[in-house]
Amino acid sequence: LRLLVIGGTAAGLSAAARARRLDPALEIVVLEKGEVVSFGACGLPYFVEGRVREPEQLTVYTPEYFRRERNITVRAGAEVVSIAHGRREVQLRSGERVHYDRLVISTGARPVEPAARPNEFNLHTLADGKRLRQFLTEQQPRHATVIGAGYIGLEAATALRAHGVQVLLCDRNPHILHRDDPELTAAVCKHLEHFHVELRLGCTDGMPDTDELVIRAQGLRPNVELAADGGIERGRTGAIRVDERMETNLPGVFAAGDCAETMHLVTGRPTWIPLGTTANKMGRVAGANAAGARERFPGIVGTAIVSVCGLAVGVTGLSAAQARAAGLQPVSARITSVDRPRYFFGKPITVELVADRTTSRLLGASIWGEEGVAGRLNVVATALHSRMRLEDFAGLDLCYAPPFAPVWDPVLVAAQQLQKSL
Ligand SMILES: Cc1cc2nc3c(=O)[nH]c(=O)nc-3n(C[C@H](O)[C@H](O)[C@H](O)COP(=O)(O)OP(=O)(O)OC[C@H]3O[C@@H](n4cnc5c(N)ncnc54)[C@H](O)[C@@H]3O)c2cc1C
Repeated sequence: LRLLVIGGTAAGLSAAARARRLDPALEIVVLEKGEVVSFGACGLPYFVEGRVREPEQLTVYTPEYFRRERNITVRAGAEVVSIAHGRREVQLRSGERVHYDRLVISTGARPVEPAARPNEFNLHTLADGKRLRQFLTEQQPRHATVIGAGYIGLEAATALRAHGVQVLLCDRNPHILHRDDPELTAAVCKHLEHFHVELRLGCTDGMPDTDELVIRAQGLRPNVELAADGGIERGRTGAIRVDERMETNLPGVFAAGDCAETMHLVTGRPTWIPLGTTANKMGRVAGANAAGARERFPGIVGTAIVSVCGLAVGVTGLSAAQARAAGLQPVSARITSVDRPRYFFGKPITVELVADRTTSRLLGASIWGEEGVAGRLNVVATALHSRMRLEDFAGLDLCYAPPFAPVWDPVLVAAQQLQKSL
């Protein structure tokens, strides 16, 4: 029996590795169109910044490692151009045909606006990162325009500031991170001003750009054309529709990662939030089921965190406006506290919690501050997964000792504040 995986990064390699663990006899072949496999795009902004020194540090495993340690064949430079499910085979650009019994599609996503000119860049592939770093070293630009205030644009702006480049960050959307959350946007805007990054949101009459350097980070689109041409259905979000087992409408064909949609556990509707953490988990489930197991991936709550010039900005679930748009009746409370006692050098941390007025179920949070954001965000994400009600959340036994937290943790202070409005 042969499992074929298309795409050799987060989702594809997680699928292959999990399938191997469950079935030592399965033949597993991964086809990757690029020259590198197992590349962690998440580290790319830090490579551009210079904190990650060598590009090789961003690739986790080599095809040789997979062959030797896992008995998995990983072929780089092997682009699949069509899927013929009737014959259970794919065709490569070289014309070669490869048979499969089970198929995992993990073709990822691509930038909506590809960089077109020599001074324009995306931040998506290793080649993009290398080209940008070389440009920064050789051309030493003084000004740059970053188009797109999603997390990649924010990380790009941060990396460019580290090189001393003056940054103009602009987006058509009036909010950062495409999250309808005015307070969060205002806080990040103020922080960026302090770091001499000019933020222009809600740009409607064309994006300004400099002649020196332009980063295009206007968002992503799932790579679904190959699957669609092979008869695989897409969902409402435009990404590949899968069930909880990551199986598509074609039996034995699974999809995982940035090319596939999943369930939003707060709204109960399909969603497409392409992130590496989700890609790995989806890939693991797809690989298990392709190897004959029955595992499920329940969905996500939309947890993400980004470092913006030293400010950690985390979101999970829905903002109040998003909840309203989803037909819920949100109430929210925002507090600013400290991540540790003041006598222990505590830094300000802001927590905004959103709950549903009718059910008192927690719906989401935005948290920002210099320190202590990730752990608190994960507490809220856990509560969202278990559909926790505000009164239960407010009573959580969270840790306290001066080096780590104040006696009333900021998420509990926010919960108490929110209880007053319910
Ligand atoms: C700059 C940057 C920073 C990020 N930071 C974070 C972060 O901090 N946290 C987080 O959770 N996520 C982050 N992400 C997102 C994360 O990298 C992606 O969600 C993750 O890589 C998706 O994995 P994937 O396997 O689905 O797709 P990809 O990593 O896109 O891999 C898909 C692979 O399929 C290959 N492929 C496509 N079509 C074919 C074909 N026809 N034949 C053969 N091969 C094909 C591609 O070449 C590619 O290698 C970041 C992404 C970027 C770009």
